[in-house]
Amino acid sequence: MSQFTLNDILTSEVDCISPETSLKSVFKILTDNNYSCCVIADDDHRIPLGLLTERDLVRIISLNSSDPRIMERPVADYMLTSPPTVAQDMLVADAIKYIEQKKLKHLLVTSAEGTMLGIVTRTNIVNAYTQLMRIHSEELESKIEKRTELLEATNRKLITLSMIDPLTGLGNRRSMEVDIMKVHAAGIRHGRPYSIVLLDIDYFKKYNDHYGHQAGDKVLEAVSSHFAEAIRESDAVYRYGGEEFLLVMPDTNIDEALIPVKRIIEGLADLNIEHTESPLGYLTTSAGLACSRHLGQRLASWRQVVERADEGLYDAKSAGRNRVLVSQRNALKAVN
Ligand code: GH3
Ligand code: MG
Ligand code: MG
Repeated sequence: MSQFTLNDILTSEVDCISPETSLKSVFKILTDNNYSCCVIADDDHRIPLGLLTERDLVRIISLNSSDPRIMERPVADYMLTSPPTVAQDMLVADAIKYIEQKKLKHLLVTSAEGTMLGIVTRTNIVNAYTQLMRIHSEELESKIEKRTELLEATNRKLITLSMIDPLTGLGNRRSMEVDIMKVHAAGIRHGRPYSIVLLDIDYFKKYNDHYGHQAGDKVLEAVSSHFAEAIRESDAVYRYGGEEFLLVMPDTNIDEALIPVKRIIEGLADLNIEHTESPLGYLTTSAGLACSRHLGQRLASWRQVVERADEGLYDAKSAGRNRVLVSQRNALKAVN
């Protein structure tokens, strides 16, 4: 937080006058220089002895109007003696309280030895305080701005993290739903079908039982990398759950989808990940493929497309695994 002291704002060029100076001379000094007060100091002009303000002078003249020699009298007879003095390191924030409490318009700033360093007016203090408040509010605003940016960045990070499956680094089910909804909407808008593939690792329970859960995790990572690398740029793959993955293929019909899906399944087999508990001896996956245009009928929701893909997956498992199949069940019948 910024701080100002009286040292930052005091006027050090103070014309001090001696106590013998006549009120007439004081009057002249005040009017010639447009001063609002005079500091009366000892001969060396070092130790302040008194203070006389413009207002004091007017009051003295009016109270003593019957005295023809009033203006010849020395200022010492009328000045405020022991004027309020403060140290130069007094904070502006404290000075403003001090002048409010004591109802002062001027403060004499003195050194520890009591010698005159300068004078500060009420206006000086109020102006400095206003500036201080402005600086504070700017500092506060900039802090709030930085904090807000940080919060927004953290929020964006959290949102991203909440969409990613930590084991495989693939989008999770939540991010899959968000994306499929968009693909479904775009498919309707452009009158174009899209395809969805559900992939499920074959005999994965046996893999875990035989090689251990940690080895199973490693395989899931390897399979995910394979899927992520093997899909086309326009497609996306998600971890649907457990050892199941979902592939979204926008703007793709069944025939167009079959070729890349077969390539992905064969590619996994080609990795030749040992799985002695599988009849083939290596790790494979089965897949169910469905299109938003199913048996000549446009499916109403993306969930129906996923259901059809799930049926295809079931059929692929039943037919011996390590393959992709398209459900031939009628959508409406299946739903009912
Ligand atoms: P199928 O060929 O019919 O698909 O048989 P399966 O054994 O693969 O199917 P099942 O659904 O019976 O078993 C799936 C297994 O996947 C069971 C579970 O322990 C395992 N699994 C699910 N998620 C994870 C995971 O994050 N890490 C590991 N290591 N295993 C997992
Ligand atoms: Mg499964
Ligand atoms: Mg499985």
